[in-house]
Amino acid sequence: MAIEPEGYLHLARFVVPMVDGAPDLLVNGAVLTRHGRIVAVGPAADFPDPGVPLIDHGEAVLLPPLVNCHCHLELSHLAGLAEDGPWFRPGEMAAWIENLLNTRGEDGTGVEEQLFVARQALAGLYARGCIAVADIGNEQVSADIGAGFKVMVGFFREVLGMTAALAPRARELAAAVAADISLTAHSAYGTAPDLIQTLKQRAGEGLFSIHLSESLEELEFVALGSGPLAGFMARRGGVDPAFSPAGESPPAFLDRLGVLDRNTLCVHCVHVNDDDIKLLAARGAGVCLCPGSNRYLGVGTPPVAAMLAAGIRPGLGTDSLASNDRLDLWQEMKILARMAPEVDPGDILRMATSWGSDILGLGGDIGRLAPGFPAVFPAVRVPGITDPDEVFSSLVRGGGEIELEWVQ
Ligand SMILES: [Zn+2]
Repeated sequence: MAIEPEGYLHLARFVVPMVDGAPDLLVNGAVLTRHGRIVAVGPAADFPDPGVPLIDHGEAVLLPPLVNCHCHLELSHLAGLAEDGPWFRPGEMAAWIENLLNTRGEDGTGVEEQLFVARQALAGLYARGCIAVADIGNEQVSADIGAGFKVMVGFFREVLGMTAALAPRARELAAAVAADISLTAHSAYGTAPDLIQTLKQRAGEGLFSIHLSESLEELEFVALGSGPLAGFMARRGGVDPAFSPAGESPPAFLDRLGVLDRNTLCVHCVHVNDDDIKLLAARGAGVCLCPGSNRYLGVGTPPVAAMLAAGIRPGLGTDSLASNDRLDLWQEMKILARMAPEVDPGDILRMATSWGSDILGLGGDIGRLAPGFPAVFPAVRVPGITDPDEVFSSLVRGGGEIELEWVQ
């Protein structure tokens, strides 16, 4: 019977620890593991006699596993939604949402098939190096999608309710759901303001995720109560009287409700101006960028450089297959690098790893190669790359071409 060694010394041409205060990149680096945990990271020369077997990964980068800060696995069966018809034009959120809601439940996909497709999507995320995902769903059955997977799935049940018909039912739901189920709000335009406050209060010190400033249509509705989203809601019986527009931006609106703080995760933040960015930074709110979804829906480009300059450390999310053509954080990095060529590729990689794990409250457990962290991480092939200055840019520009294997 083979006896499993108590640890390994993993060697690779490059190691990226993603630890504040440590070098960004180790050339000819090593990761020493024991009993499933990392015990040391450093140049290979520091480990002349490790006392455990060596595994040389060769022309590879060892880096922390990736973190997906925003996804809706439940919508995976709606892949290609925006490509289906003439009803959608870039930037038209209301049309996209209306079609999503109309398609959902009427496309003949049963619950079991939905869950099967969602699990396939989750398996795909793992295959691309993702170890944790914040997953938003509207159906309680979706809470089980991650069961049995090596990916940590934090499930948040999203409450929609801005129309006069839906809001009262949503209030009843929020009051009735068991306390151990995490609830979250859709957005400043999709959930009535009193409900947003109730849900935030209920979340306490836990993560409270909300879509924010995704489209110009959202800005118009939140500020003025008009535009295509108002038309969409009028077709569904009108807006709940709890909402009254006060000329504010979505972040200012949420701040007036008292729900912007370090546990609030603001997803998208495409149309945020300097005052909004200052406000988000001052409140310590988390920001999740979803560049692939933004490009797919044509809603615009987030002001990433201004966010970084204000001290915001965003994470990355894939959003769903209803608004993205694949769930792959490498693709998100690539799209973001094209959207914001002025941003340091090292920062883009941090968004997908250490910063993302911090935002989800997992920063002490995953997202870094450091002593005490799990000995589970990807080795990314970088054939032919010998110049340390090329490592980060080749990683963030690799997209779907990136090849990796899990080390564990
Ligand atoms: Zn979303």
